[in-house]
Amino acid sequence: MPGFEKWSNLERKEVNDVLETGILMRYGFDGPRKGIWKSKELEAAICSTFGCDYAQLCSSGTAALTTAMSALGIGYGDEIITPSFTFVASFEAILSVGAVPVLVDVDDTLTLDPAAVRKAITSKTKAVMPVHMCGSMADLDAMQQICKEHNLILLEDACQSIGGSYKGRSLGTIGDAGTFSFDFVKTMTCAEGGVVMTNNKDVFIKSDGYTDHGHDHLGADRGADLHPFIGYNFRISELHSAVGLAQIRRLPEFLETQKKNHAQLKSILSAIPGITFRRIPDPAGDSCSFLSWFLPTEAATRAAVAALKEKGILAGNFYWFDNNWHYIRKWDHLKKGTTLNHLHPELKAAVMHHANKDFSASDAVMSRCISTAISLTWTEEQIVEKGKAIVSAII
Ligand SMILES: *Cc1c(COP(=O)(O)O)cnc(C)c1O
Repeated sequence: MPGFEKWSNLERKEVNDVLETGILMRYGFDGPRKGIWKSKELEAAICSTFGCDYAQLCSSGTAALTTAMSALGIGYGDEIITPSFTFVASFEAILSVGAVPVLVDVDDTLTLDPAAVRKAITSKTKAVMPVHMCGSMADLDAMQQICKEHNLILLEDACQSIGGSYKGRSLGTIGDAGTFSFDFVKTMTCAEGGVVMTNNKDVFIKSDGYTDHGHDHLGADRGADLHPFIGYNFRISELHSAVGLAQIRRLPEFLETQKKNHAQLKSILSAIPGITFRRIPDPAGDSCSFLSWFLPTEAATRAAVAALKEKGILAGNFYWFDNNWHYIRKWDHLKKGTTLNHLHPELKAAVMHHANKDFSASDAVMSRCISTAISLTWTEEQIVEKGKAIVSAII
């Protein structure tokens, strides 16, 4: 998922526009900024590229999730159903608004298992937050159906699937709100940054204020703005937006390369006996930032990981089951409720309860899964070489 691999004069030029005026902040300073509004321009480009009515840039994907949850009215006493396989940011955001992350099993899509979601619904459930992990999507028809039946909010954590789609619509624009991350390793980067996307004007207006200390942005200048609610500083800077603006224009090229490299590697790895690939609810919508594959057993998968390591070719191949940051198995801080400050005892108990449930169905999937990150810089020859090296290490 590597926009950073393609740093160029285009990014440099956009950043230079901002350096020329020295107005690094996205709001105000209308005169001295000389018509340079990189954040506004990037928000407009996000709306037109991905097909949503509103976009609110934030300082990170984590801040975007927190902002979306607040704007959707999610908070104290609410439960959010989200998968056992994600990046820690997903549950961090839930905790930051005082809600309870209800982690549930994933299936061979590597995203929420619809049956597990149904089983987890209680009278406190307020939202379902699928995470479109590793470039590809959750079963969104099933998620929408569940949310409709139970009157729940659908919030898409699409941070890892920029450029992916489901039945022709961009991931992150299908639920009540959705988020992207533009951190340094995502498909397009701002260095750091994120966005809340929505078609709901109310959610957008609240997101706009929340990321800027509650400013209503209706005053003649910042000092004259009112603060209809309490917000935070989750603002993006003009320097970051400038990088993102160059990257979003190059996104079609990034995605095309990603898809080509993914297809070529997949056809080579298909030679591994017993290999299967991740199930993708809409294969045409895979952003192809990773190729995720399974071996028949945990033992076979561990042996493959050991063989790749021994040959010095493990880099870029992720065995999430042993990973500290992406899977429930190693989230000891969450399981123990370890925070720097005191959580409300009721919240802490609920968090620990849900983090310590039985995840054997997820284990059965994740213990057999390896995801290979797709680079934009590989040549065809390098893919052949890489693919063959993986195949021969394993068989
Ligand atoms: C990267 C990521 C985030 C958080 O984004 P940051 O910009 O790094 O804060 C959230 N969710 C998922 C699934 C991610 O991969």
